[in-house]
Amino acid sequence: MPTLDPEERERRGKQAHTSAEKLTGQDIVGVAVTWVDNSGITRVKAVPPAKLENAARWGIGATPAFDAFLLDDSIMSGRYAGGPVGDLRLHPDLDRLTVLAAQPGWAWAPADRYNQDGDVHPQCARSLARATTDRLRAAGLEASMAFEVEWTVGKGQTEDFEPACTGPAYGMTRLVELSGYSREVLAALAAEGVDVDQFHPEYGAGQFEVSVAAEDPVAAADTAVLVRETIRAVGMAHSLRTSFSPKVMPAGVGNGGHVHVSLRRDGENVMSGGEAQFGLTGEAASFTAGVLARLPALLAVGAPTTASYLRLIPSHWAGAFACWGRENREAAVRFVTGPLGSGSWAANVEVKCFDAAANPYLVVAGVLAAGIAGIEESAELPDPVDVDPASLDDAGRAERNIVALPSSLHEAADRFEADAALNAAFGTELAATIVDLRRAEVELTAGMSPEEIAALTRWKH
Ligand code: GLU
Ligand code: MG
Repeated sequence: MPTLDPEERERRGKQAHTSAEKLTGQDIVGVAVTWVDNSGITRVKAVPPAKLENAARWGIGATPAFDAFLLDDSIMSGRYAGGPVGDLRLHPDLDRLTVLAAQPGWAWAPADRYNQDGDVHPQCARSLARATTDRLRAAGLEASMAFEVEWTVGKGQTEDFEPACTGPAYGMTRLVELSGYSREVLAALAAEGVDVDQFHPEYGAGQFEVSVAAEDPVAAADTAVLVRETIRAVGMAHSLRTSFSPKVMPAGVGNGGHVHVSLRRDGENVMSGGEAQFGLTGEAASFTAGVLARLPALLAVGAPTTASYLRLIPSHWAGAFACWGRENREAAVRFVTGPLGSGSWAANVEVKCFDAAANPYLVVAGVLAAGIAGIEESAELPDPVDVDPASLDDAGRAERNIVALPSSLHEAADRFEADAALNAAFGTELAATIVDLRRAEVELTAGMSPEEIAALTRWKH
């Protein structure tokens, strides 16, 4: 029986009918239906409210060639993607339908991709994120996740980058300089129902950050998409340009896409109150060990572009070393305990080495699949690290089992290809396409200088 059987199509059609009436009452003229491609770029097809019912029931046509898009919109010839034949259907998830506060007249819904027979497309990242969350649930664990969004605000619409504010890192001056802009970012996110935890100017020139409350993993990835497009739209209204590129300029710090994860069993946070290091329970420690061990492979998903490796360098708070530590901002895995007494709700693991070019649905799937593999293997965590690994020499790092993460996209693709658990979790087609795409990007950017790579990537994600 296909996933979208006649009954399910009927349910979705009815839901869309009700939603469309509401949207028309709010003067909405278009619903942007988005998915994120394997290169981390959010792509869209839009329908007027009158066509939403049809879209929900039958999907919106889209070529499977989108699986093979590179960041410059060229289409590679992969083993399982890139041909001109076939049609997929984008089915908006109307449970997440949101009126876009910074784009008057527009609403948004994330899409799942199915084939014409009503089966999930094997390269649908959002469906994979949901399926991986369900695998964890079947083992009795509920995951909560959240993406931190860092971005850089540039002046005007030029291809170059000139920071839109000049105040110091974390400086109140920046908030004053871009006060109206910042107010509108917060107001728009609030109107969209996004549960913002914090907003601040970041370290880099023109850089800002929003962190949001943890939620169900698929919802967290949806929120990452919504937050970014909202920030972009507010910027446009202020004649500012927004970059989520891992490295807007070759020098300085980059834009991270850190992801937080916590797990609950029977309603209790298993990252607190346990017998392992810093109060982790045994299964939370194994989950974390599974993620840590697979970070070199996961970079093919979480640091998916050549520019990612301009960012992922030591002593830039990007987490360039595969190690973990409590509140260690140079460890790729930072264990966050929260203040004394808050562990039961606050304790979580943060993966810092990922950046904002990553497809958040693939990140959800990758992190959870790696953690599940860790639990299945009863993996053990090495000793935590409480220094900047870059401050140790090679012997000191070797003694503490600290390894440098891949320093190139090429190496990350090789590591991903060699990881049996991740390949099994992603399925043959998607796993092969990720490897093919990364290698195609390596070819695309071969011989480019860091300046050229930064320029190529600057306004894409
Ligand atoms: N911008 C840094 C990065 O590239 C992260 C700074 C922070 O720890 O928030 O990941
Ligand atoms: Mg930050």
